Amino acid sequence: MSEDTADNSPESILMTAKRIIALGPICDSCLGRQFALLSTGLTNAERGRSIKTVLAMQASANDDRALLEELAPTFRPARLKLGIKEDEDLRCSVCLGEMAPKKLDIWAQKAAAALDGREYQTFVVGTRMSGLLAENEELLVADGGSTHAEPFKSELNREVGKRLSALTGKTVDLKSPDVVVHLNLDKEQAELQVASIFIRGRYKKLVRGIPQTRWPCRECRGRGCPRCNGTGRMYQESVDELIRPAVMQAAAAEDTVFHGAGREDIDARMLGTGRPFIVEAVRPLMRSIDLAKLEEEICLQAAGKVEVTGLAKADSSMVERLKEATFEKTYSALVRLGAEVSEEKLKSVLKDLEGSIDQRTPTRVSHRRADKLRVRKVHSAELIELKGNLARINIRGDSGLYIKELVSGDGGRTSPNLSEALKVDAIVEELDVIDVGGESDGTSSRNAEEDKR
Ligand SMILES: [Zn+2]
Ligand SMILES: [Zn+2]
Repeated sequence: MSEDTADNSPESILMTAKRIIALGPICDSCLGRQFALLSTGLTNAERGRSIKTVLAMQASANDDRALLEELAPTFRPARLKLGIKEDEDLRCSVCLGEMAPKKLDIWAQKAAAALDGREYQTFVVGTRMSGLLAENEELLVADGGSTHAEPFKSELNREVGKRLSALTGKTVDLKSPDVVVHLNLDKEQAELQVASIFIRGRYKKLVRGIPQTRWPCRECRGRGCPRCNGTGRMYQESVDELIRPAVMQAAAAEDTVFHGAGREDIDARMLGTGRPFIVEAVRPLMRSIDLAKLEEEICLQAAGKVEVTGLAKADSSMVERLKEATFEKTYSALVRLGAEVSEEKLKSVLKDLEGSIDQRTPTRVSHRRADKLRVRKVHSAELIELKGNLARINIRGDSGLYIKELVSGDGGRTSPNLSEALKVDAIVEELDVIDVGGESDGTSSRNAEEDKR
């Protein structure tokens, strides 16, 4: 406690400052930064200059020529007192000139040039330290012994940020800036980290046979080989790739990433009101996008295959929520039965299927998913039409319910199942998702279940 009091006394600040100045030429900023935590409303340069002023006056009062000589390389009034005719300060041995006002201006200009032509409202400046400067800073703290210093990076970020803001008229946002400008001290370059923009909506997949996302060729992993005809892809189109060109164009982005709220099988259509998705435009040049026009453009370019609706701005946190959210889904399945059955029988069996279903990982996906037993609910199973041995059935179930297996039984891996209950073979010929909705966690689906009873 008494030590703390001593540390904060004016004598102690000046003693520490003297010790620091004796280490070598130091600019106003680097000296002031060692005491940054002791006052607000001043720049470090102002703090440093004030300390040098007091020290020089004290040296004059005490006839302390040695102190004046230590101050002289980086303090003109001390040089005048000593009769040294030199206008320029020596280069600072701590920041090597990075904190000189001219250098800060140059950094701001470099940053502005890097940002030129890019649409953004907010930014923040960050610093990638050089090893040399990091070492200088450590030595200064160790040998100078100030306990009130702020990091070099913080000052550089702030000072360049102020200047960049003045140059561009844009504002600093520490939390979620549109761009981060990294000052790379080793390369003397301003490097940009651009925040993605996120657009949410719902998509409909009007055709069968296309996956949701880009699917690199299994054989060549995207390089191109005979199996994929040199395209590097398993499928030549995907929902992702049908949406992508219009988004790339609207945002002048370098890439897009597609995030879906689950996915339908490749051979299933996605109809009804569509499936929620978020498309992320990576390193966009443009951030204000006419979403109505984009929607139109996507629908035009993907005509007959994919449609999007309800495009709206989103943010990165929504991607996680979208991925975690589970949705009940309604499917329309065209089922081929091994033999004709009566409508009455089929209806009663479907009614019995409502409730809990035990599903082991389906045979068709077991090569890429662990074999697990899942319990999923069938909320409703309804016969829409029966013609001979073809039945159209609408099934509403939990997220993750495998419909094809619910119908076929998958060799007993799904139980109960339609085929077993009817005692005839049953396979899904066509499958469409006709509704994705009612975002539900366990609680709400349980409630929904209770409502039905
Ligand atoms: Zn300096
Ligand atoms: Zn290939």
